[in-house]
Amino acid sequence: MPGAGGGGTLLVRGGHVITMAPGTGDVPDGDVLVSGGAIAAVGTGLDAPAGATVIDAAGMIVAPGLVDTHWHMWNTLLRGMSETGPGYFRLCRGLGPAFGPDDVFQGTLLACAEAISSGITTVHDWAHNVRGPGYAAAGLRALAQAGLRARFSCGYPAAHPNDQAMDLAGLRRLHAEWDGHAAGGLLSLGMACRGPGGSDPAMHVPEAVYRPEFDTARELGLPVTIHACGPPHAAGQIEALAEDGLLGPDVQVVHANCATAAEIGHLAASGATVSVSPFSELLIGYGLPRTAELLAAGIGVGLSADTTALTGNADMFAIMKVTQGLANALAGDEFALTARRTLALATIDGARCLGLDAVTGSLAPGKRADLIVVSPAGPNLGLLTDPVQLLVTAAQPGNVDTVIADGRVLKQGGALTTLDTERIGRDARQALAGVIARSRSARR
Ligand SMILES: [Zn+2]
Repeated sequence: MPGAGGGGTLLVRGGHVITMAPGTGDVPDGDVLVSGGAIAAVGTGLDAPAGATVIDAAGMIVAPGLVDTHWHMWNTLLRGMSETGPGYFRLCRGLGPAFGPDDVFQGTLLACAEAISSGITTVHDWAHNVRGPGYAAAGLRALAQAGLRARFSCGYPAAHPNDQAMDLAGLRRLHAEWDGHAAGGLLSLGMACRGPGGSDPAMHVPEAVYRPEFDTARELGLPVTIHACGPPHAAGQIEALAEDGLLGPDVQVVHANCATAAEIGHLAASGATVSVSPFSELLIGYGLPRTAELLAAGIGVGLSADTTALTGNADMFAIMKVTQGLANALAGDEFALTARRTLALATIDGARCLGLDAVTGSLAPGKRADLIVVSPAGPNLGLLTDPVQLLVTAAQPGNVDTVIADGRVLKQGGALTTLDTERIGRDARQALAGVIARSRSARR
């Protein structure tokens, strides 16, 4: 059953284990014992129980699976197309309405394949092209097939009118039927809300629309995620949410590039978290990530891929590196954000940003077994000096040898074990051709 977790026993043996668990730190020449999809033990010289599969990690780095905290997976079908949009928002408004459920499935599955290949074991699928019955189910089917851990935040359709609420009856239905989608607990449900500013800085959504959306999510006990982005003319979104009394620990704010000091104070006081997506923020022109200020205020911060229509890929190693580099550049300090602190943002802090830190993000007994093994064999590594700094500054997705999510091996020896990437690429190209053709005929 997809996503039900590996029932077997695995021993990942002899790697440099970066646990990211408080009080444990790194275990050089360490072992990780996995049983029933959970971490049973982390230590040295662990015995392999009878029947256990042993994965030799000698000379390699073992780390928690990387955590993405905001990704519009459906529009991976539009990878590298934002300039032809022209512009990311026009691209989504232009081609999004031509997507059928199967196109959402293909885009999401391609994103999942990239996630696994890149060592990402948890994703936050920010689904903002839910156009009717079948769309959410299609995205969820791809996530379940991939075996990733995910929060699926169900949102509104691309190009949805600002004066209309999202399909709240559909959200209630999805919530009521959730057990049928949850892939044995790997997937959890949230709501993706436009809030006052919407996903497009040019949008303005009235409170009469977004308040009932918030109220419904809270009635159902669902966490809420919301963009607060855009150049300075779109500032004030976080202030508006604070004035409306809508911020809280169940809210994740995305970007927050133009947050004022007062708004950062509101986020901190409310317990809301922030997802920072440096590459999309740079490329779309939102300005520089505010990582250091958010962290200094005590806000839970995670890193995110956002959209490969704009950023091209979802390389979490590169996302870590640019996050550290920008924080140090802004501070004028080589040590403002250390590699270890940066790795935490992409692991345990990312999990905290999604409310999943009791489940994933570090290697400790009792947690679900989400981990990666990174080989230094490639020419961009070649050495095993400081394993944490290597992960943040030198490693690339191609160095990821093994990926285990919920105890299930999804990548081994550098190749995906459960997904056929050639077929996924072929199906994605075909789906995109259909989307473009339907969009053209709709315009005629
Ligand atoms: Zn986004």
